Amino acid sequence: MSKTHCAGGCRRKIFYLRGSDTAANGVDPKGWATEYKQCTDCQSFFCDSCLAATQTPERCPKCGGALFQPSAEQVHRTITGDMGDFLRRMRGE
Ligand SMILES: [Zn+2]
Ligand SMILES: [Zn+2]
Repeated sequence: MSKTHCAGGCRRKIFYLRGSDTAANGVDPKGWATEYKQCTDCQSFFCDSCLAATQTPERCPKCGGALFQPSAEQVHRTITGDMGDFLRRMRGE
């Protein structure tokens, strides 16, 4: 399944800064999620508003895993499929 969108149901795409981008200014908040967290287990992204609607905003709504605040580089690696090593290290495996 694609990880480029919020997995919480709002269907917004995950926005992250790359290269010469310096800010999220001008990004359409209806189309893009600029505030979000990521699950250490299933790697899904969840935006702040979807997490705020859950009972346990510090836990992944899909699998119950711990959420963390990914950097732009981590988001990029997830979307390009290169997050495996990073997540294994975070889980201490
Ligand atoms: Zn969302
Ligand atoms: Zn999860």
